[in-house]
Amino acid sequence: MKSYKLEGRVINGLDDHVIEKGCVLVEQDKIVFVGTVEECPNLIPELVETIQIPNATIMPGFIDCHAHVVGADSQDYDECTASHMDLILNAAHDLGQLLDSGFTSIRDMGLFGPSLSRAVDLGLVRGPKIMPSGRIISVTAGHGDHGYQFSKAYLNEHSPLSVLADGVPECLEAVRTQFRNGAKFIKVMATGGVSSPIDKITDVQFSETELKAIVAEAERRGTYVAAHCTGTEGTLNALKAGVKSIEHGVMLDESCIQIMVENDCTLVSTLAISLGIPKMKAVLPAHIYEKGKVCAEKNLKSIEMARAAGIRIAFGTDYTNSKNTRYSDIGKEFEAMIEAGLTPMEAIQSATKNAAYLLKQSDEVGTIEVGKTADLVMVSGNPLEDISVLRGSEKIKIILQNGVLVKRSE
Ligand SMILES: [Zn+2]
Repeated sequence: MKSYKLEGRVINGLDDHVIEKGCVLVEQDKIVFVGTVEECPNLIPELVETIQIPNATIMPGFIDCHAHVVGADSQDYDECTASHMDLILNAAHDLGQLLDSGFTSIRDMGLFGPSLSRAVDLGLVRGPKIMPSGRIISVTAGHGDHGYQFSKAYLNEHSPLSVLADGVPECLEAVRTQFRNGAKFIKVMATGGVSSPIDKITDVQFSETELKAIVAEAERRGTYVAAHCTGTEGTLNALKAGVKSIEHGVMLDESCIQIMVENDCTLVSTLAISLGIPKMKAVLPAHIYEKGKVCAEKNLKSIEMARAAGIRIAFGTDYTNSKNTRYSDIGKEFEAMIEAGLTPMEAIQSATKNAAYLLKQSDEVGTIEVGKTADLVMVSGNPLEDISVLRGSEKIKIILQNGVLVKRSE
């Protein structure tokens, strides 16, 4: 493997310190030096490739904690009726686009995540490394129920996104089935949601007993539960049951915030979609537009409260590579975070250090430190002055993943 010397402004993902004339040295798959250009050790020129681009900024590879790579939306496949073979091939293609936008790891929620994860690790598919949950567990008529026109048995066989489970025995079976397929954490739908046709955003989904059984089973397996949460009451239920990450967290109140602080629970914001829906009346189905409009305002308040309480915010997008949520401009989430009041540095750390924590990989990725895996991105421009330089694949010039140069477009 080659060694690389990247030169430019270094944002390490760990703290607010910026090295203006910095240098990051990569040998094999590891970062072996980070500091100023003057301090950088001299290596034999034939053995190292120096990469310089104008006004460069070097950051840790980004991590999206809320992905659903199921291969449906980018080809307008119907996820409930399309062939799994078509979906998974398309999902593999979509993964490459995510990588090209600077995402070297993701947390994926969907049926194909475990298989895609293995394919990426084996080098068969170009894409981010994946921490998969497998299918999302939902109640019948809940946020994961994609249509009363199908039977529950059909959906449980065919939906690439979710599995319907009612009562503790079915919940336990659903959790264990995800682990059997290779899941590394569990995702549940604890409340109604914006995109589902047959529920309200404030619906409480799963009883306390069901949620506690799911959390206990995940913990027995040495991992945690992430919960889709829109309405306040269902969010509280999930928090009381012991979930460790709140997805969306649109309507948090003081009691939610208090438990999140006590339980070291992370908030995965998905703000580009949340704040974007009210601007898209013309192109969205009426039920999505109406529900989404209510959420946007509440979401801003939740983020403000979470920031004030010092809750860890991790970057998530919920993008599916649809025409409105292209992976090629997935970095719009950074801009939405600024719109919601985060600083550019906070937004970058949410997609690096904070996201690595949720992946349980803080020792490996998410910051630029000696000994860490060399997952790095390099852009032309300064995101601390103009966050839009992180918007998407066109702007991301250099990407290293595990020390391998996987993208170069200067
Ligand atoms: Zn989602």
